[in-house]
Amino acid sequence: MKLHSKAVHAGDRKRVPGQPIPVTTPIHTAASFFYDHLETIDKVFAHEVPGYAYSRYDNPSNAALEELVTALEGGHGTLATASGMSALQIALTAGLADRRKHVLAANALYGATVKLLQQVFEPFGVTTTFVDICDLAAIEAAIAAEKPGVILMETISNPLLRVGPLDRIAELARAAGACLIVDNTFATPALVRPIELGAHISLSSATKFLSGHGDVIGGLVTTDAEHYEPIRALSRIYGPILGPFECYLTMRGIKTFPLRYERQNQNALTVARFLQQHPAVEAAHYPALENHPDQETIARLLPAGQHGAMVSFALRGAAREDVFAFFDRLKMVVPATSLGDVHTMALYPAIASHRDLPPRQRARLGIGDNLVRLSVGIEDSSDILADLEQALP
Ligand SMILES: *Cc1c(COP(=O)(O)O)cnc(C)c1O
Repeated sequence: MKLHSKAVHAGDRKRVPGQPIPVTTPIHTAASFFYDHLETIDKVFAHEVPGYAYSRYDNPSNAALEELVTALEGGHGTLATASGMSALQIALTAGLADRRKHVLAANALYGATVKLLQQVFEPFGVTTTFVDICDLAAIEAAIAAEKPGVILMETISNPLLRVGPLDRIAELARAAGACLIVDNTFATPALVRPIELGAHISLSSATKFLSGHGDVIGGLVTTDAEHYEPIRALSRIYGPILGPFECYLTMRGIKTFPLRYERQNQNALTVARFLQQHPAVEAAHYPALENHPDQETIARLLPAGQHGAMVSFALRGAAREDVFAFFDRLKMVVPATSLGDVHTMALYPAIASHRDLPPRQRARLGIGDNLVRLSVGIEDSSDILADLEQALP
């Protein structure tokens, strides 16, 4: 099945002999399960027969979502977690388990991911080196020098939308025995399926495009065969699982995700072209624009005509107060933290996603104080352009 079909079919409508078949998976709120004979639960605990015992281990609502996401991502299995950050934590823990405690990380990562590495993993003896994830020679040198146990990158980086050569990095990771973990939140499985390109683990914040309606916090970790049981074993112990209601909402969201995302991709291209030619805009960043620095990788890894729904741009000559004024003039575009929702959203990285980076480090990453990030929604594109036009200086 293709993506649009998997999105509405995978995981749902499990048959139980003699029982009616619900068209959508119910929300199973039970914390625990039992059987007519104690022997059955003994076998469930021993993994000798499939079944449910305790919802920290497994629950039918979670299992349905996990099966759906495994189908979309093309992996071996999926764990649905309480947030994108808990997905990152459990993926890093599993990746590092029997490897050298060093992470080679992309220098452009979600802000909390950097904090997770520096404030949570580092005190436990896991060191991190940051590298320009678009510079294959630098990555090769860093792998040789640091012998990382894990390489961590985002498919499309935040907020400058750089696209690293994931397939080549996967080859280097495998040759070095490192686990490649890819945060696929921005690209989504509609654009890139990292495991098919050689990554070991692909994760995302379900909060964003997959749920898509701004009403869920959740995460998803899809792995290859090698890392699946270790991840489930970790989850059984420390339990960062997604609740059954959020599983239901995420599954419901995913059914229209391919449709929404197609529209968001089209609108994003329209918005990027509009910004690119606007006199108040110094530079527009979008993977489909001709001046994008990663053209070759983009042509190789992204499907033709689809480049995601994130756009960023620098307001010409704008100081912080000019950017604030631009945000305050927006009438329809929602100036809220997050991305991937059905409505268009604007975020100011310098005070939000990249707030905790020292200004010099932000500048080194090319994130100026005049940079604005947009997550383009499903509205009529003419309304998005009109709102931006009236808000731009
Ligand atoms: C939002 C986000 C996260 C964290 O996800 P939460 O669901 O907020 O915990 C991680 N990575 C990226 C790229 C994100 O955009």
